[in-house]
Amino acid sequence: MKQHEGFVLPDQSLYCLSVVVPAYNEEEVLPELYRRLSAVLSGFCPNYEILFVNDGSRDGTLEVMRNLKTADAHVGYVNLSRNFGKEIAMTAGLDAARGDAVVVIDADLQDPPELIPQLIDGWREGFDVVYARRVSRSGETWLKKATASAFYKTIQRIGPVSIPEDVGDFRLMSRRAVNALKQIRERHRFMKGLFAWIGFSQKAIDYQRDARFAGETKWNYWKLWNFAIEGITSFSIAPLKVSTYLGLFVALLAFLYAIFVIYKTIMFGDPVKGYPSLMAVVLFLGGIQLVGIGLLGEYVGRMFVETKYRPLYLLDEVIPAEAIKLTGTHGNEQPGVVTDLPISQQS
Ligand code: UDP
Ligand code: MG
Repeated sequence: MKQHEGFVLPDQSLYCLSVVVPAYNEEEVLPELYRRLSAVLSGFCPNYEILFVNDGSRDGTLEVMRNLKTADAHVGYVNLSRNFGKEIAMTAGLDAARGDAVVVIDADLQDPPELIPQLIDGWREGFDVVYARRVSRSGETWLKKATASAFYKTIQRIGPVSIPEDVGDFRLMSRRAVNALKQIRERHRFMKGLFAWIGFSQKAIDYQRDARFAGETKWNYWKLWNFAIEGITSFSIAPLKVSTYLGLFVALLAFLYAIFVIYKTIMFGDPVKGYPSLMAVVLFLGGIQLVGIGLLGEYVGRMFVETKYRPLYLLDEVIPAEAIKLTGTHGNEQPGVVTDLPISQQS
């Protein structure tokens, strides 16, 4: 038995396949997603599991999950205590999933469930991670495509692990890859990086990325920018070095400039001028210093968050696909339902 954020799940896998679906305000899409998922999965094996994660939705998403659960024993859901963001919702789903392999898929049908058989084929060929790679991003703006591409190029260059371009979270992972991922409990979770970090044999399957089926994307450019910073600072300390080299470069320039000024003064004298150049130098250096401090701050801030060692998420309710008994940390009220548990740290 292994413990995950306060609830205990049997370690052995119980399902041939788990599909984890993080969902935030997705009431319009879930029924359609469920329909298409079931159609695909029922052709594959009898005891699959569809595990929805309700990430603190404000609409009827939880109700929809409950209804699907009542109608179909293959469905289970995890209700988080509030909105934690997709990366953490996905982690909660991976923690609770009990399949021999786990597929992570977006709720909005941008990742076609019909691709899952191909992912499964890759897994059967012996790959531990089979990820879907988008060859087109229909329904996305030119600017979004360009910025995404620039981001991947940057992180490719400075990060220690190579993160494949145009790959989202839609993927299949073998049990051991999932178990590896589950060991990473850092709070700042850049999942794309973590997926790459665990290694194992990986395979790409190309597909067309569709536009959202319904509802709205939860990403705006500010969020994407922060996501990019997250990706870079949680996987590379290169930016810290940038400020060092930038500082050296500026100091060198300043030194040469000083020599020039001294030379000029000796040769031509200097009536009190120099105010503009002084301002320019002061402001420039001030700017450089602020950039350096800001960069440091990014990392110090991350240390601050990590050292608090808070649980990654809190669970309101875990309803597994079939009646599997869960043992809570303080004598559970109802079997199969875990409510309001204190979080005991992992051993
Ligand atoms: N999502 C989530 N929590 C959030 C935001 C999003 O669980 O705080 C889910 C969302 O329901 C969807 C997936 O993450 O299933 C991807 O979200 P979205 O479609 O908004 O992102 P995009 O496809 O634009 O990258
Ligand atoms: Mg989407």
